[in-house]
Amino acid sequence: MHTLATLAPALGLTALQRGEQWPAASIAGQAHYPAHIPLPLVSPIDCAGHGELLPAGPAETELALATAQQAFTQWRLVPAPQRGELVRRIGDRVRTHKHELAALITLEAGKIISEAEGEVQEWIDICDFAVGLSRQLCGLTMASERAQHRLQEQWHPLGVVGVISAFNFPVAVWAWNAMLALVCGNSVVWKPSEKTPLCALAATRLVQDVVAGFDAAPAGLLGLLQGGTEAGRQLAADRRVALLSATGSVRMGRAVAQTVAARLGRSLLELGGNNAAIVTPSADLDLALRGIVFGAAGTCGQRCTTLRRLIVHESVADALLARLQAAYASLRIGDPRLPDTLIGPLIDHAALQQMQLALTAAEAQGGTVRQGGGGITQGVPNTGAYVAPALVSMPAQTAIVHEETFAPILYILRYRDLDEAIAMQNAVSQGLSSAIFSNDVREVEQFIGPAGSDCGLANVNAGTSGAEIGGAFGGEKDTGGGRESGSDAWRAYMRRATNTINYGSTLPLAQGVKF
Ligand code: NAD
Repeated sequence: MHTLATLAPALGLTALQRGEQWPAASIAGQAHYPAHIPLPLVSPIDCAGHGELLPAGPAETELALATAQQAFTQWRLVPAPQRGELVRRIGDRVRTHKHELAALITLEAGKIISEAEGEVQEWIDICDFAVGLSRQLCGLTMASERAQHRLQEQWHPLGVVGVISAFNFPVAVWAWNAMLALVCGNSVVWKPSEKTPLCALAATRLVQDVVAGFDAAPAGLLGLLQGGTEAGRQLAADRRVALLSATGSVRMGRAVAQTVAARLGRSLLELGGNNAAIVTPSADLDLALRGIVFGAAGTCGQRCTTLRRLIVHESVADALLARLQAAYASLRIGDPRLPDTLIGPLIDHAALQQMQLALTAAEAQGGTVRQGGGGITQGVPNTGAYVAPALVSMPAQTAIVHEETFAPILYILRYRDLDEAIAMQNAVSQGLSSAIFSNDVREVEQFIGPAGSDCGLANVNAGTSGAEIGGAFGGEKDTGGGRESGSDAWRAYMRRATNTINYGSTLPLAQGVKF
């Protein structure tokens, strides 16, 4: 099994073998770290410390932003297909280090191996997508109302893109943003989660010599600022950050959005979810069961798209609950480095405490814990925060069900008619992911129609989690309204200029105005 000591050389993290403070690094565009409060490097597998890393302060943020701003002024002039070529090379590089990087994600975020490899695969996939996109940054040509005039729009590079990311996707969220930002002609400054700084460092190091070996790429194109809330605040407040893409809790999004709005900047928010699946009487229960268990218990309940509410028709509720209980009892919980483990640890003991508080609140609000919920110390590295995923029957959608608890708790609610189920699903403040399990075309169309699910993602006979990069990813309401990754999400990373071109010898005014 991998440890940091065995992985470090392959990922350029050798200093960690000595458990020393991280030295000032010489990554292109990476700031140097003076003495501020160190970030502990902790693995959730056993909550053991692996050393410390010194975070950036105001001076380093200033340096990183100034360098990124300078890099942008050069990079925006490089033709987009050439920018795509850099991203193609980055994708090739990631392919050759997929397993080592995934192993580091497992060590630092606690994901099981196949999910960690899936996360790196998302980086590879978004590279491929971005390479194609680099030849398709298209604008429209519109009919002008004036003779010998032409109207067109162009999409131009935007500036420095700031990326704040959460611990649970320590590499993929940055990659979705950074690979698109690069082909769109922008530079990037990344402030990763303080809980997963090594993944960020490894990802940055992986691309550093690719960038350095690409003649057209200026230094400072991909910057890294390690730190916590304060580093994120500085990024949000700085006018040089043309777009701030922030992924994390609703609480963080509210703070960041207000700071960015106060300077009339742009933000792209990917915040918390409280995702539901509706199971109708016509559902294929075998298929639904698989989607529900992976959605609710996978990643130990720590995905923004984790299934948190199951809204099931009363005619199938008992049968489904019995099958869910059996499936949950068979889940293998333990060290995520072991190949047969399905559920790894929570990120830390604070998350375990939050889970216990939520379960206590659910019981006080009339709920019954049907399965799981307790901490696990047998057969696991017993200093980690391991839990049995919980199934909780609720009599109604009470206050605790409206909250996103970032842990594997699935609240089960019953319904009689589909209107009631959809209303229940939409009643929460978050609007990220949703699903219906049904073989009835009318139910399906109602669910995905204009009066159906109000979420950014509405799936049919597929669970709430595990989105592909080809679609635009994001959610409504408190989830923040941002869209990342596929479809036309690239537009957020560019500015649109409308050009009116008069190729005649007179100057007619629009709307027939005489002057
Ligand atoms: P978090 O909000 O605690 O932290 C996320 C990031 O924001 C970190 O880098 C943190 O340092 C930074 N941050 C926190 N407060 C800040 C502030 N006031 N100003 C600037 N930066 C600040 O979230 P977390 O615990 O790391 O991740 C879990 C949360 O993220 C969940 O709510 C989950 O649903 C959400 N999430 C959403 C998506 C999505 O795409 N919608 C994806 C992953 C995670």
